[in-house]
Amino acid sequence: MECGVVVGHKWVWDISFEREFMGWERQLYDDFQLVLQQLVPKHGVYAHVDCLVWKHDNMGMFSVKSLCAVVEARWFSEDGWSVPKSLRPILPSKIALFLWQVQKNRVATKENLRRRGVALEEGATCVLCLGAPETVAHLFLHCPKVWQLWVSVLHREGVWWGVSESIQACLAEWGSLRRSTARILWDLIPYALCWVVWLARNNVIFKELSFDAEEVWESHMFMLFTWIKAWWKDCPYGVHQLSQGFTKIDIQGKVGVRIVVPWKPPQGTNLKFNVDGSFQSGCAGIGGILRNGSGEVLGKFSRKVEVTRADEAEVLAILYALLFCQQFMVSSVEFESDSTLVVGWMSGGKMRPWKLTNELNMIDYLMPLVNCIGVIHILREGNAEADELAKKGCFCVEPVWFYSGP
Ligand SMILES: [Zn+2]
Repeated sequence: MECGVVVGHKWVWDISFEREFMGWERQLYDDFQLVLQQLVPKHGVYAHVDCLVWKHDNMGMFSVKSLCAVVEARWFSEDGWSVPKSLRPILPSKIALFLWQVQKNRVATKENLRRRGVALEEGATCVLCLGAPETVAHLFLHCPKVWQLWVSVLHREGVWWGVSESIQACLAEWGSLRRSTARILWDLIPYALCWVVWLARNNVIFKELSFDAEEVWESHMFMLFTWIKAWWKDCPYGVHQLSQGFTKIDIQGKVGVRIVVPWKPPQGTNLKFNVDGSFQSGCAGIGGILRNGSGEVLGKFSRKVEVTRADEAEVLAILYALLFCQQFMVSSVEFESDSTLVVGWMSGGKMRPWKLTNELNMIDYLMPLVNCIGVIHILREGNAEADELAKKGCFCVEPVWFYSGP
């Protein structure tokens, strides 16, 4: 369906309706026009394609995961606190969300309920110590029953610690209190402690059980063990070793393994172009390195690009490498990229993102021109030089682009 025309380089929406508007619909239509006028199809091709697109996903399809990513990026980072990246593959999302609520003071403690106007028959006093109003800071930090759990953690670490004023301050300070425990284990502690304290507090209120500090300690230890075990399949430690030798647990074995992948020469007389895109803290760069069968470097490029996502940078890296080949009349080249996603788009096996249609079309056009043998996937570790060029590219004022010939 045609919904508009280009009038002198400008897109003008032209939408017709089957019937006349009722009086009350006129305002709605005007509002709709105002919204629509802000939108201009980016590329001519979109003017002819009517479809619903979820802008926050590469494929244009809605998913809860992509929604969460948008929400996290927009709101979690605004207040300066988010779940550290290293913990995301380990923590159950329910727990991550819970700690976020704790630090935002959004947990339904008695004091918070009272403030919202909920009448509490038994008052807002902490059920663990019966000595103070149950605020978030009290329940998770200052309550003497809970404070002794934190003290035990810090005592094991060999640290003397003055109590933080708030849970936010505690989380901000947490990393600097570590002495010997593996970082990941250390960072997980507040999540486990706050969660088990909350469960124990609920048991006191709703199941009329008593608060047993030792039991709470054991369950936080077991919780840490379960998370680590689920994340680290070959973890050699048992729960007993974790609770008895907490500071001795070595997670480096899990996180510190470096895979060595040597660069492989291209087949026959072909050349090989290793390419990579980098996207870090708002800056994107691309890089590529061209070598012959003996591993001699024939050319390189490294430059900054204006994109907003890592996969866009990966696609641009391939496009620039092709332009490089065209410019210097280099042919019979094998390409290597460490992005499985982008390699999938090249071979046509995976659905291509609507946002990158133009770039991918150009790649399709250039590939036979330079007799590109194909784009194959290589592990990141085998693409180190291209990776370095891409990272440097992020900060390049002048693009680097050289070819020394065969
Ligand atoms: Zn208390």
